[in-house]
Amino acid sequence: MTDVWESCPKCKSNKVVSRGKLYYFLLWFAAGGCLLWLGLLVYWPLLILGFVFIIISVFSFMMPRVNRCTECKHKWKP
Ligand SMILES: [Zn+2]
Repeated sequence: MTDVWESCPKCKSNKVVSRGKLYYFLLWFAAGGCLLWLGLLVYWPLLILGFVFIIISVFSFMMPRVNRCTECKHKWKP
């Protein structure tokens, strides 16, 4: 996930965090999957929460990538 990496265009710092959307997608999707399982086995309202998490994961996958500078908090699209 280090395809496009560049220094901050504002302060030229190298402390740039690139938010990989696949990472967020997997994070939300895994959390949603766990909640679905818990909902099925333990407590049914968790099913709703699990679906919400999976929907969020789909949305986070559609969001554009953003680079963020940890020095000046500047955000930009790579
Ligand atoms: Zn910066």
